[in-house]
Amino acid sequence: MLGLMQEWPLLCHKLVDNAATQHGNREIVSRSIEGPIVRTTYADLRRRALRVAERLERDGFGLGDRIATLAWNTARHIEAWYGIMGVGAIYHTLNPRLFPEQIVWIMNNAEDKAIFVDLTFVPLLEKIAGAVKSLRKVIVLTDKAHMPQTALPDVVAYEEWLGEADGAFAWKIFDENTAAGMCYTSGTTGEPKGVLYSHRSNVLHAMIAAMPDAMGISARDVILPVVPMFHANAWGLGQSAPMIGAKLVMPGCKMDGASIYELLDTEKVTFSAAVPTVWMMLLQHLEETGKTLPHLKRVVIGGSSCPRALMAKFQDSYDVEVIHAWGMTEMSPLGTLCTMKPDYAGLRGDARLDVQGKQGYPPFGVEMKVTDDDNNALPWDGKTFGRLKVRGPAVAGAYYGGVGSEQFDSEGWFDTGDVAHIDANGYMQITDRAKDVIKSGGEWISTIDLENLAVGHPDVAEAAAIGVPHSKWGERPLLVVVRKPGREPSKTDILAFMNGKVAKWWMPDDVAFVSEIPHTAAGKIQKTSLRQQFRDYRLP
Ligand code: ADP
Repeated sequence: MLGLMQEWPLLCHKLVDNAATQHGNREIVSRSIEGPIVRTTYADLRRRALRVAERLERDGFGLGDRIATLAWNTARHIEAWYGIMGVGAIYHTLNPRLFPEQIVWIMNNAEDKAIFVDLTFVPLLEKIAGAVKSLRKVIVLTDKAHMPQTALPDVVAYEEWLGEADGAFAWKIFDENTAAGMCYTSGTTGEPKGVLYSHRSNVLHAMIAAMPDAMGISARDVILPVVPMFHANAWGLGQSAPMIGAKLVMPGCKMDGASIYELLDTEKVTFSAAVPTVWMMLLQHLEETGKTLPHLKRVVIGGSSCPRALMAKFQDSYDVEVIHAWGMTEMSPLGTLCTMKPDYAGLRGDARLDVQGKQGYPPFGVEMKVTDDDNNALPWDGKTFGRLKVRGPAVAGAYYGGVGSEQFDSEGWFDTGDVAHIDANGYMQITDRAKDVIKSGGEWISTIDLENLAVGHPDVAEAAAIGVPHSKWGERPLLVVVRKPGREPSKTDILAFMNGKVAKWWMPDDVAFVSEIPHTAAGKIQKTSLRQQFRDYRLP
């Protein structure tokens, strides 16, 4: 027997309907690409997104069409997002930090038909547009006055194009499982793979993200998503914020410490989210200027492991709570967040930091387990590590085009490619990417643990641990270090600092100093090229 409740499809445009109805005057503040700070509201968002949908339809775009965006976090970008979804098309956020040829590959794979592009990226698009066979419309996210001279095909200024709409448009209604958005994994591991979010998965993910023991955000919050919309949906904040009616502050193209601080301060931001590097730049700015963070209450830090020193600084010096989080593009992206269960609620100081160094536990809507290579579930003892697998309504069930099917099993588990352990309280800790883990004498060594430890040394700017071939053990750890400017720590200094803090057999066999460590477009250490660079390295 079926229940007798109403059919109310979970469609993303209902989020902006709700925001406009209940929180119509709540502001969206953007640092515009043209320069000035621009103020709009949720009522404006709905009105303008409806016009985007109307104009797209008039240009012949509709259900299932992939519409790319190459843009920073601004109100215009978010209007475009909801307009695209509201006509039944699929937003496809492109990561501008990828190599141009990768962007071309991704756009051709997705067969993007149109693109919304920021002024910043017009020169980039001019170089690659000719190679994207499906592309037939370019909308530059600016007004007529700022429109550059360009030879791009069928190109128009966003405000001019939007001005041609009369506003007589109603959202399209369709099945909640219809595709809403698309994002390619940045390819830390192999070719980029397309993840295709549905309206249902986006709405459920927005709800999951907002829950008290996840991000814990409310209508009273002022949210600054520093994490870009092209990095896995700004971790869901572009959908959670309108769902709950929080004020949104969009940083545009300026992510340096001073610019982020200015917005935190003038807009009285209470909640923000970004990768560790962004926060390191902010903390450096605070240290240089002696400024404080009187309004900011919580920050979510994820994308890569959050160094302990960063968490301690935020909490001890600025009274800002850190929520360490783990996720991936394939998970919309939230997987786990390190908020405190009752057993841990009273912890302070180092004991609390010990827990916060873990990536946390999943909210309702994410199931998780660790297995060995033969898919046997491993114990939750906080030390046995294995492959981390997940499933849930906002987790990918397949990649676009059917590639990578080996990562999905018949019971719906997705193999994340991460290696982790889970403790008796359900807290998960990432120890590595499966491809990065060092295998010494058949046992695994966590490169993340070694790196986090090494960056705790006051003279170390960045560190990466990789396995290099060893005749007896198969592989042994080499620590690659970038020194802080003006500092000259030696190999002995660094190893002495690490000694006693990890198992003896985990200690790096050697330390190599370099001026720079290669990074991926998402700012993560590029282990593949580092391993290539040190392929013939001879350990002492
Ligand atoms: P890609 O998989 O291409 O690197 P994602 O942005 O989806 O792109 O990154 C997801 C990966 O980032 C995870 O699988 C994990 O390896 C890493 N990651 C994310 N958050 C954390 C974290 N808090 N600690 C350690 N690793 C993390």
